[in-house]
Amino acid sequence: MDSEEAFSRQREKMVTIQLKGRGIRDPRVLDAMLAVPRHRFIPPGEANQAYEDRPLPIGEGQTISQPYIVAYMLQALALDGHERVLEIGTGSGYQAALLGRLAREVHSIERHETLAKAAAKILDELSITNVMVHHGDGTKGWPEQAPYEAIIVAASAPVVPQPLLQQLSDSGRLILPVGVAWGQILQLWRRQGDAFDYEELVPVAFVPLIGEHGWGE
Ligand code: SAM
Repeated sequence: MDSEEAFSRQREKMVTIQLKGRGIRDPRVLDAMLAVPRHRFIPPGEANQAYEDRPLPIGEGQTISQPYIVAYMLQALALDGHERVLEIGTGSGYQAALLGRLAREVHSIERHETLAKAAAKILDELSITNVMVHHGDGTKGWPEQAPYEAIIVAASAPVVPQPLLQQLSDSGRLILPVGVAWGQILQLWRRQGDAFDYEELVPVAFVPLIGEHGWGE
C-alpha cells in the first residue's frame, strides 16, 4: 500500500468513526471530508497524526481544528454550492479547501502572513482555484467582496464582530465561537433583512480571535 492509499484509508475511518459516528449527516460535508487530504495541511513531520480526533499545531502558536468540529460547523452552515463564503482564520488552509468544495467562492483571511502564504501555496498545489487567501485582520471582514451568504470564524471572539454581521447577505448565516479563553459556545447567527438573531449550539475551545473587533494582542 503506498502512503496516499494509507492516508485515504485513515480518512475513511475518520469519516466513519469520528463524523458519522457522532451524527454528522450532510452528505456534501461527508464527501468533502473524504476527499480533502488533511495530511497535506499538517507540518510534514506530523502528517501521520493528521486523521486523529484532535486539533494539531500548525506553527505560530496556532492549530488546525479537530475534524469533528470542522464538520459540525460546516454542516450547520447548510451550504448548497451556490454561496460566496467568508472564512476568518485560514490557519493551515484545510477548512478553506473543504469550503472550496462546498461553496462557489471562498474568501479566507489570516492574520499571520506566514500561515496565509503557506495555506495559499498548498491550495495552489491542490489546484483549488475558487479559494482566495488574504492576509489581514478578519474581525473587519472583507468588504471588497461582501455580501456573503455564509461566514465562518475559526477563532473565538468576546462578542460577535459587528462588521461580520453587516457583511452578511439577506438570509445569510454566520457561525463563530463566542466566550472566554477557557471555554466558548458556538453561535449560529441569521440575518433577515435588518434583523439578526442567533441560537447557541455546543461548547467548544478555540484559539482567540485577535483584532480590532476581537481580543487585544
Ligand atoms: N481553519 C483553520 C484550519 O483549517 O487550519 C484553523 C484555524 S485556527 C483554529 C485559528 C486561526 O485564526 C489562526 O490561524 C489565527 O492566526 C487566526 N486568527 C486569529 N485572529 C484572526 C484575525 N483577526 N483575522 C484573521 N485570522 C485570525
